[in-house]
Formats: sequence, structure tokens, C-alpha cells
Amino acid sequence: MRSRSPSSPPAASVPDALPALLLQAIHQAFNAVLITDAVENGHRIVYVNPALCEMTGYAAHELLGRNPRMLQGPQTCAKVIAELRSCVAEGRFFKGSTFNYRKDGSPYLLEWNISPVRDGNGRITHFVSVQHDLSAIAQAQASSDIFARTLDATEDGVLICNHLGIIEFANRGYEKITGLRARELVGRKPSVAQSGRHDQAFYAALWSRLTDGQPVREIFVNRRTDGTEVHCEESITPLRNRQGEVTHYVSMVRDITARVLSERAFREQMQHDSLTGALTRTSGSLHLENAVAQSRALGATLALALVDIDYFKQVNDRFGHPTGDKVLATVAGALAGCLRASDKIIRWGGEEFLLIMAGCDEASAVSTLDRCRHAVHQACADMLPMPITISAGVGQIEPGQELADCIERIDQLLYRAKQEGRNQVRAVHASDG
Ligand code: GH3
Ligand code: MG
Ligand code: MG
Repeated sequence: MRSRSPSSPPAASVPDALPALLLQAIHQAFNAVLITDAVENGHRIVYVNPALCEMTGYAAHELLGRNPRMLQGPQTCAKVIAELRSCVAEGRFFKGSTFNYRKDGSPYLLEWNISPVRDGNGRITHFVSVQHDLSAIAQAQASSDIFARTLDATEDGVLICNHLGIIEFANRGYEKITGLRARELVGRKPSVAQSGRHDQAFYAALWSRLTDGQPVREIFVNRRTDGTEVHCEESITPLRNRQGEVTHYVSMVRDITARVLSERAFREQMQHDSLTGALTRTSGSLHLENAVAQSRALGATLALALVDIDYFKQVNDRFGHPTGDKVLATVAGALAGCLRASDKIIRWGGEEFLLIMAGCDEASAVSTLDRCRHAVHQACADMLPMPITISAGVGQIEPGQELADCIERIDQLLYRAKQEGRNQVRAVHASDG
């Protein structure tokens, strides 16, 4: 910002008729003011205020009596000057913008308007030109354009919110993350992308840290406009003004959905046995403990079954291990086909499976296992010249019974099924199958 102390105007540069107050006002004005006469053969400068001298680098005496053309140069737009001339010739108001040149030869971007001044008879005697140097604004605009283009070039999302959490800027990366255009985001809150995966307490804690001026790093699950979930690693930094007040929040947002999904798929894969697709004994045991805890908490029934393939060693011995593998996978598939989606199958041992049937009592578990027995037999019927059958021990976990005791009990029942001829289901309360 320019500042200057008021000083008396030099008498030579001032038209005599101007009232003193008006003269002082123009002389001390922030905007550059230049007055020319309106003589036929080119207009001569009759007044310049200190602001114009400061803008051009010329002293008043170097300008007075000269034509304002002296301020023009190679970058001055000919079209704008032609428009200026025709306005002046016709006595019309002119407004325009182009480059002029300082005394040191440097160009500056100028916006100016020219008004004709008429005497009592309506004759134009002078032209008043009020000028404004736009160079600083143009430069700021250029740097803010570069800034915006740089932010758009980054892959990550960049979001700037004001102190109330209202979005003031979103780059192209953030548009991709949300599916919303920047113009749709500006004026709204980032909650527009919430997925409902975090509760209100999560957002309240986050907001309280931010308003305290602390930076935050979090993983958010957001929702895109097409309904898909986006996992975002986000760092939010509060910005303070010179008084130390938080004025803005700047967020850098990285879409980590692909990583999260592949980690999830990997974890999922690790939980399952690759040959049969059943849960591994390790991950299955966790499911089992959860199922027991849940059934106790809800007072609901929970049935378990241990299933073992009959004479499986013979399969391997007669048809080879690879065929044995195929039979194992087929048996697991047949078992899964007889169970509800909420039931679980654990590969408990080599060719032994433990079935978890939550909300199921012993009687219905027995009939499910009988269906399994038939399904396994059917599924393997065309694979080998020998029938494939299973034996099972079934039980319902009793109130107060330890899980290990229940498993031991159904293991004994499985052993009994084997002893009593195989291809049968034995249960704690109903032991014929
Ligand atoms: P039973 O009727 O008494 O159960 O007799 P069985 O021959 O099935 O005896 P057992 O259950 O003890 O046999 C398990 C056999 O399963 C031994 C092992 O070679 C075989 N086995 C274990 N895991 C695999 C596997 O992943 N692939 C194949 N092909 N065979 C397996
Ligand atoms: Mg067996
Ligand atoms: Mg076995």
C-alpha cells in the first residue's frame, strides 16, 4: 500500500478554476489522476497528482505539457488505444486496461477511465483520467493460478475449509475422491462425503482436536456419489493468522482404497484353507469362541458337529493323493451346500471338519448332518468307483458347559459312529441315524 503525506499542489499543474477543496481531494487521492486539455492537435497534460507521479516514476514537470502517449510502448494494446481515441473524439466516457511504461522503461498493467469535462456551453475543455495500477493484482492472480494448477497436478486430494469447517477450495484430486465437482463442494461441509461408518463421537473428538489447533491424522471411510466406499488417509492441519487464531483447515487426502481392499482380501485368504475353502483351525477357533460367547449372551442355542470322511486313507492309497485332494474339496463343498450362510465350516484336521450352527438345536443339527451325509455321497458318486461317506458326532452346547467338554463329547460320538459301522450321525440325545 502506498502512503504519502499531503502536500500543496504545484501551482503550474493546476487549472485555475478548480475549487480548493476539490483540488486537495484529487491531489491527495489514492488513485492516479491525470487531466489533459482538449485542444485540436493532441491533448496536453495539464495536471497530474502525486499518485500518478509515483506510479509512473516521472516528476510532474516531466509530464506537464506533454501528450499522455509518452507513457505508451510496445506492449500497449493498439485496439484499446483506438477505442480510447474514438471515445475522446466523440466525447464519450472511456474505460479500458492495457500496459503503460514507467520512466525506467518497465511496463505496468493499467486500468483507467477517462471522462470529458464540459464548460457552461457544453464544450469539452478537458479530459480527466483516473488510473489504477493492476500489476500487483495481476501478479497475485498469476501466483494464485499457479498455486491452483499445482494443487490440481497432485494426485492427492487437497481441501481447504474455513474456521467453521465450510469448504473454500477443493482440488481435482478431491473431486475424484468424492465424485463431486469443486463448485458443488465449495460452501458445503466435508460431511457431504460421510459414509456412516464412523459415529458422531468420532467426528466430535476430531473436531475438538482441530479447534484446539492440533493437527490430525486419521483414516476415514468416505462415500463417493456413486455409492462406493473410499478409504482415505487424511492429514488435517489448522492454519493460524498472525493473532494466533485458527482461520482455516488444510486437508491432504490420499485414496488408500486399493491397499485396504487387497489387505482385506489377503487377511480373508489367510483365514481360509486353500484346498477346501473352509476356515483354518486357527481362525475358525476364534469364530467358535465368538459364537459360544454370543449364544451365551443371547441365551440362544448353538450346535456343533465333527465330521470325518470314512476310509479316506483308502482313497489316497487306491487313487493317489491328488484325487484324495479333489474328494476333500468336493466333500467341503457338499457340506457348505447343506448349511445356512451364517453357519461356519472349520477344517479341524486332515479330512475332519467342525461345523458351527448358531441358533440351531441338536435335533435340527442332526437332520442337517443327515442331509450332509446324502449330499456328500451324491457329490462324490461319479468321481470314484467306491462310495464316499462321512460319519459325524453332533451336540448342542449346554448352559454352563465348557466348549472343550462339548467338543470332546462330540468327538466321542464320532468315534462311536465309526465303531458302529460309519456313514452315520451320532448325537448326545438322539444317537441313531
Ligand atoms: P476312518 O474311516 O476311520 O476315518 O478311516 P480313515 O482312512 O479316513 O482314517 P483317518 O481319518 O485317520 O485318515 C486320515 C487320512 O487323511 C490320512 C491322511 O493321509 C489323509 N489326509 C489328510 N489330509 C489330507 C489332504 O490334505 N489331502 C489328502 N489327499 N489326504 C489327506
Ligand atoms: Mg477318516
Ligand atoms: Mg480323520
